[in-house]
Amino acid sequence: MSKVIAIANQKGGVAKTTSTVNLAAGLARCGKKVLIIDADPQASLSICMGQTEPDKLETTVVDVIERLVNEEDIPENFAIIHHSENIDLLPSNIGLSAAEVTLVNVMSRELVLRDYVEQVKDQYDYVIADCMPSLGIMTVNCLACADSVIIPVQSAFLPVKGLQALIKTIYTVKRRLNSKLEVEGILLTMVDNRTNYAKEIVSEVNEVYGKSLPVFPVEIPLSIRASESTSMGKSIFEYDPKGKVAKAYANLTEIVMNNTKEGR
Ligand code: ADP
Ligand code: MG
Repeated sequence: MSKVIAIANQKGGVAKTTSTVNLAAGLARCGKKVLIIDADPQASLSICMGQTEPDKLETTVVDVIERLVNEEDIPENFAIIHHSENIDLLPSNIGLSAAEVTLVNVMSRELVLRDYVEQVKDQYDYVIADCMPSLGIMTVNCLACADSVIIPVQSAFLPVKGLQALIKTIYTVKRRLNSKLEVEGILLTMVDNRTNYAKEIVSEVNEVYGKSLPVFPVEIPLSIRASESTSMGKSIFEYDPKGKVAKAYANLTEIVMNNTKEGR
């Protein structure tokens, strides 16, 4: 049984991509087979995985979508790039912006990615989609094929307003397209425990959302190491294995694996 996780928040810069890389690497280190899908035309995930010129890639998620829309077969391992940390990547590039626009006229446009995920997911223990910073069709496609969604929240701004729009979208998708979708958890990222402000936001998120949604009992600390690692094309486990960010993502990995075991 494989589990499909979307990492979503329509706000940019909240560590969706960083969390995708490090959760995937954490799972891969535990022997899990992992596919990560770059669902953002900015292709940060592809770049973080060492594909520094995504616009030069011959095949990407854009070609997968084209084939699905044209009802063409998708060959095994089509467009997949194998990363040295035992992670498979379905990369993206700027072409995804145009592809998303063409989806508007496609029948069942919200379920195109689900066709792909259904085809490949038996090869993996986890499929993780790194969503773009919007609640548009591509993000809805990711939510429509996911078992769960992780919501990274940067603990530097008052995050309350933006989250409401996302949560509303999640529940609309759950009602109309994908009844199995659950919130795996809100993940507080870039937490600077030296400041009172960060502590306030952590307690605010727990107060406002903790009753209705799970908030992960682990916070990702703010650390320059986290941003350095992705710019080197590595996960935090390779770049700074003994640091606090690696420890936090290892904890997150454990929690996600336990949730899976318990059928959540
Ligand atoms: P998103 O995908 O939500 O836009 P990113 O994962 O690209 O967010 O992260 C936004 C920026 O924050 C990047 O420059 C990234 O390197 C940096 N970053 C991510 N996690 C941390 C962290 N724990 N500490 C410090 N910087 C971080
Ligand atoms: Mg991103």
